[in-house]
Amino acid sequence: MNVILMGPPGAGKGTQAEIIKVAFPIPHISTGDMFREAVQNQTPLGKEAKKYMDEGKLVPDEVTIGIVEERLAQADCDQGFLLDGFPRTTIQAEALDKVLERLHKKIDTAINITVPTELLVRRVVGRISCKECKAIYNLEFNPPSQTGVCDICGGSLTQRSDDQEETARKRLEVYSEQTAPLLAYYENKGVLHTLRGDRETREVFADIKNILERL
Ligand code: ADP
Ligand code: ADP
Ligand code: ZN
Repeated sequence: MNVILMGPPGAGKGTQAEIIKVAFPIPHISTGDMFREAVQNQTPLGKEAKKYMDEGKLVPDEVTIGIVEERLAQADCDQGFLLDGFPRTTIQAEALDKVLERLHKKIDTAINITVPTELLVRRVVGRISCKECKAIYNLEFNPPSQTGVCDICGGSLTQRSDDQEETARKRLEVYSEQTAPLLAYYENKGVLHTLRGDRETREVFADIKNILERL
């Protein structure tokens, strides 16, 4: 199954992806995670991406499309994939279609998670994650049992440098301007499912599971 997770920053895409990949063993492809890894490793890609990420802007399409194209061609994507945070512009969506056509694949479903804007800001500014296993927590909504320590692996928890209120608001603006128009693109293909993300994580997942089991 070839799935896209859509929704603004803070909607819960990464959180749901963590659960989805346990129930449905398909690779989780997060362009945000790929860029953060490149930044951490100080690769040329990381140096380029960082300039945009720090300002809450999108990394240029040609750079982003290139890394996704390479990733989708890898063998572990043969049984399906879960795209998280890509595509984010119409150009990326059209490029994705071309790549998939070459690979004789198509998108089966695009799941769009909606959350009211002010709650998104609270979620983003409270987000922390494990340096080791990447588990996602929230200082307000889902705190770890011990401050600064991952419940799962004992690793230390850290906050993303772009999860400050000002950058979060900028990213939400960029989402409305550049990414929200894509919902119509997938609606027109008849693959869009929209669900409310301002519920318990397990309730949101139950809906996603239903959609994926019917594919
Ligand atoms: P969030 O989960 O909060 O939406 P991401 O981890 O998906 O954030 O993305 C973090 C940053 O990485 C974005 O603000 C942007 O700079 C960059 N990025 C991630 N995915 C894309 C993409 N598909 N196109 C352009 N930039 C991207
Ligand atoms: P995205 O990948 O869409 O940017 P995340 O999955 O990283 O979003 O979630 C953003 C923040 O909101 C995280 O701190 C996460 O713990 C929290 N969060 C995610 N889902 C929920 C939920 N259903 N209820 C409360 N908080 C949530
Ligand atoms: Zn951990």
